[in-house]
Amino acid sequence: MSGPAVVLELADVHAGYRQFKSLFGVSLTVHEGEAVALIGPNGAGKTTVARVASGLLTPTAGTVSVGGTDFTGKPAQVFARAGIAHAPEGRSVFASLNVEENLTLPFRRCFGRAGLPAALERAYELFPRLGERRKQQAGSLSGGEQRMLTLAGVLVLEPKVLIADELSLGLAPIITTEIYGVLERILASGTALLLVEQHIDMALRVAGEVVVLERGKVLHRGQPSREEILTSVFGTTEVESWAPQRRCRSRCTAPSATWSSSRARCRRPTPARSSSRSATAASAGATST
Ligand code: ATP
Repeated sequence: MSGPAVVLELADVHAGYRQFKSLFGVSLTVHEGEAVALIGPNGAGKTTVARVASGLLTPTAGTVSVGGTDFTGKPAQVFARAGIAHAPEGRSVFASLNVEENLTLPFRRCFGRAGLPAALERAYELFPRLGERRKQQAGSLSGGEQRMLTLAGVLVLEPKVLIADELSLGLAPIITTEIYGVLERILASGTALLLVEQHIDMALRVAGEVVVLERGKVLHRGQPSREEILTSVFGTTEVESWAPQRRCRSRCTAPSATWSSSRARCRRPTPARSSSRSATAASAGATST
């Protein structure tokens, strides 16, 4: 009996930026209706994988296939037309337009004038906060609401795969939970997910398959526990909160430190193998505003 079809596949992908090599033989597979989490420390290459998977970056070697067809080297619009949606890291909204205008642009292009009202209603049903703020300028929305706006713009198009980069970054836990609740609904309705995530607990909640990336290589894949992930990346499970949303900038200058509310003091992950693992976050959303 054959299982779910493969919708997205990276096979032995090498990629980088000019002379700088970021990925060294990365392979991963996303099946229909499956959620795959891509986890790893800062600079591991997660965003680069997301860019390759959505056609924004062409690999220097290896292949990217969509629905069994080789898409290597094709432009991002071709990936998008084949149902690969990419929600980049950061806030990619038109700040001077209001919520509804931001949604109208992609929806009218896809559904035409006649399909626009239904598409807007679907967006507001997924994210009621956006419905309440439909006339508010997008630039004045909170970070979490802007993230919802970005997601609504692609989710209503019912992509085959949503590639979401660092959704929880900088968000309050309650907003992260709300967004992940929507992702679970989307997953249940058939859209596969490739989630780039540093928030291990959120990723493990949704994903059936976890790919741990380190220094551009796949370190683990499968269903590792939280402890196994922490041990493989940091060499210790003594990391209180490996979630990036509450960086303790004022109290500690360590780039990888996170604020642990449970102990109310700064906890700094102690990399066991190399200090290069605590590189500062690279902001890579090319279309972010
Ligand atoms: P983070 O969690 O900090 O966002 P990441 O795991 O997503 O990190 P990438 O953003 O994919 O990692 O970066 C992988 C490597 O590629 C890093 O060493 C980074 O400095 C480098 N890199 C990323 N974008 C570029 C770019 N536009 N030009 C040059 N190097 C880049």
